[in-house]
Amino acid sequence: MAETPIPLEVRNITKRFGDTDVLKGLSLEARKGDVITLIGASGSGKSTFLRCMNLLEQPDEGELIVHGEAIRFKETKHGREPADWQQVVNMRAKLSMVFQNFNLWAHMTLLENIIEAPVHVLGKPRKEAIAQAHALLERVGLSERANAYPAQMSGGQQQRGAIARALAMDPEVMLFDEPTSALDPELVGDVLKVMRGLADEGRTMILVTHEMAFARDVSSEVIYLHQGVIEESGPPEAVFDNPRSERLKQFLAPKH
Ligand code: ADP
Ligand code: MG
Repeated sequence: MAETPIPLEVRNITKRFGDTDVLKGLSLEARKGDVITLIGASGSGKSTFLRCMNLLEQPDEGELIVHGEAIRFKETKHGREPADWQQVVNMRAKLSMVFQNFNLWAHMTLLENIIEAPVHVLGKPRKEAIAQAHALLERVGLSERANAYPAQMSGGQQQRGAIARALAMDPEVMLFDEPTSALDPELVGDVLKVMRGLADEGRTMILVTHEMAFARDVSSEVIYLHQGVIEESGPPEAVFDNPRSERLKQFLAPKH
């Protein structure tokens, strides 16, 4: 029997901005059902690492293997670029990203936001995409808001809508970059609840969050980044309860 390919393998990614080495050789492997959480101080490279995974940033070096398929790169005078943008489009459909600032398309209703990519990228019949969208809205607790525009929704509703939009592509891996950081505190819980549901159903997820209690609860692996290097990683119990690195100890120490 053929083995199912690993959803995402990242090998030795480096990224430079100008003279600054922002990522200094980072690797991870997301197997099916893994929930990998990236933690670290502001500026440590968490967002850049996540953005390199779906090529919103081009890594200077390193490999990306999505569902067993290596992304092909070519050297240009501006540095390395994907050799085949169609391959990137296809891989992005497998790696959906949810951002801090929701970024639903403002000129579309929530329902239109959700069916856009399934219809135009996957070529799904509109009727089928609409039926799926309603099911997803139900799932994230937004059945009543299908025809609302983003500006008419709270931040928490927009973020749950953005998660529904990501789910509509039935992604292999979901990437979350601080999905609750821009929310009023009373709206955070509903979003975390939806994410916990995804983890419970075995979705493969890679997330950046400052919600440490949540991270401890849902993660299979926690990675602590310091200045573009994986300083420490392991299961949440080890990283949170028994950190070895002094820097990580300080990072986790209660702030007064
Ligand atoms: P984090 O998400 O952990 O806060 P980032 O990945 O956003 O960290 O940033 C890591 C470093 O890279 C920071 O020093 C940041 O200033 C720098 N950086 C991020 N994006 C860019 C960019 N587009 N151009 C130049 N420097 C950048
Ligand atoms: Mg960031």
